Amino acid sequence: MNSKERAPNKQPIYDLNRRNFLGMASMGVGAALFPNLSFGKIPGKKTSKFFEPSHKLKVVDDVDVIVCGAGPAGVSAAIAAARNGAHVRLFEVNGCLGGVWTAGLLTWIFDFNKPGLTREITEKLDERGARRGANQDKFVYEPDEMKLLLEDMCADAGVQFRLQTRLVAAYRDGPKLTTVITESRSGREAWRAKVFIDATGDGDLGALAGCGWDIGQGKDNVCQPLTMNAIVAVKDITQIQNCISFYGGDLTTHNGAVRHFKAEINRAGIDPSYGMPTLFHIRDNVVLLMANHEYGVKPYDADAMTAATVHARKEIFTIARGLRQLGGVWEGFQVIASAEQIGVRDGRRIHGRYTVTKNDLIIGERHDDAVTRATFNVDIHAETKAKNDIETISNGGFKTLPYDIPLRALIAKDVDGLMMAGRCISGDFTAHASYRVTGNAVAMGEAAGTVAAIASQGNRMPHEVDWKEAK
Ligand SMILES: Cc1cc2nc3c(=O)[nH]c(=O)nc-3n(C[C@H](O)[C@H](O)[C@H](O)COP(=O)(O)OP(=O)(O)OC[C@H]3O[C@@H](n4cnc5c(N)ncnc54)[C@H](O)[C@@H]3O)c2cc1C
Repeated sequence: MNSKERAPNKQPIYDLNRRNFLGMASMGVGAALFPNLSFGKIPGKKTSKFFEPSHKLKVVDDVDVIVCGAGPAGVSAAIAAARNGAHVRLFEVNGCLGGVWTAGLLTWIFDFNKPGLTREITEKLDERGARRGANQDKFVYEPDEMKLLLEDMCADAGVQFRLQTRLVAAYRDGPKLTTVITESRSGREAWRAKVFIDATGDGDLGALAGCGWDIGQGKDNVCQPLTMNAIVAVKDITQIQNCISFYGGDLTTHNGAVRHFKAEINRAGIDPSYGMPTLFHIRDNVVLLMANHEYGVKPYDADAMTAATVHARKEIFTIARGLRQLGGVWEGFQVIASAEQIGVRDGRRIHGRYTVTKNDLIIGERHDDAVTRATFNVDIHAETKAKNDIETISNGGFKTLPYDIPLRALIAKDVDGLMMAGRCISGDFTAHASYRVTGNAVAMGEAAGTVAAIASQGNRMPHEVDWKEAK
């Protein structure tokens, strides 16, 4: 599925122009434009629809930049915008900053050897003793230290952030996004800004604002599998080091470690849903377990996400108990924490003023408005368990050359005043399978935040800012 049928110019449902709205309603076109609402009818037994009455909301704040989603991209966008003088609000639905880094317990970072915030985060993790390995490009970090670090960095930059606050609606005045609505412990609230950044990973803001978008691949738009991570305590890390990827910072050990670990899981009588079950060493006798795949789930399907989450957690405990029963080096292997948020690889890709494509990766495309150069290869996880048993991860059948991500891919095509950063920028399925890793998410966030600050302070749209002004 994509959003073609819902192109914003065909469906002005988020346009705040009151005359348009009332005129259309009196012409009886409401039902067509609002297929889920029944105009003016109180639901009775015969209808399965509910008419939610409109109500006045308090506009809590009117700021320069609003960032929705506080994963690696959103936090970076908010910090960069604030450091460039903007008044910034950041909204996050989880109870911590960091997205997949923290709520998702990722612990492993790729494509991080870049200037700017990536380097600063690396140094700050080192200062806190929260990073493993000497490599700047890929390394293990401690997820709870990351939560704390990001809170400190946002606070120091002057970012006003709100946790447990979900973006639920977006409204435009003509083509310009003006207002977002959130829901939280404080209820439903309205917020205005000059520039907005969608860093929700899944492109919630772009979709709510009426942007065109794509998701997944093929005619069924199949998404890459989800994965739930878990932190596990082991009895003696040195006894299982041949099962731990990159143990002691040795970057050559991944494939061998995965093979050994999978053989041990098999020995416990378990066939893991992810063909490359992985352990990372976090510190002392604590490791990260990444051993699960949930296939064919769309991130905007709440029932499917719930079922996947429950199923994934069960599999993690099945593996942990199975290994423990083997005894020996696996004695005491126990789950300390499973991720609050199951990891989502694939979400909506919001249409931008440039689309990063597979061909860009093949030829190593360069742009004058490059916000970062991505170096990570394509990582396409199998879409079913049967395919996973044949090939777990594909590189797309070609060698990725380092390629540029241009600012234009971070600026929405269909809606003014809206930028994207992180997973939800404008790209095709194959390119997304490369640029989605967190080093790029941080660099994109930093660029989007900087441009958003410049645009808001000069009362311009992001597409009117020259990238040279931001460098
Ligand atoms: C299992 C797995 C393994 C991966 N492995 C690696 C790896 O080894 N190394 C690496 O660098 N990358 C890896 N990636 C990719 C990488 O983690 C993500 O693509 C990256 O997190 C993208 O950052 P982001 O900020 O765009 O999105 P996210 O980290 O997903 O952050 C989006 C944030 O927005 C919030 N949000 C969403 N909707 C709303 C809403 N409506 N209102 C408010 N908040 C909202 C979410 O709660 C979340 O905090 C992996 C991903 C997964 C899932």
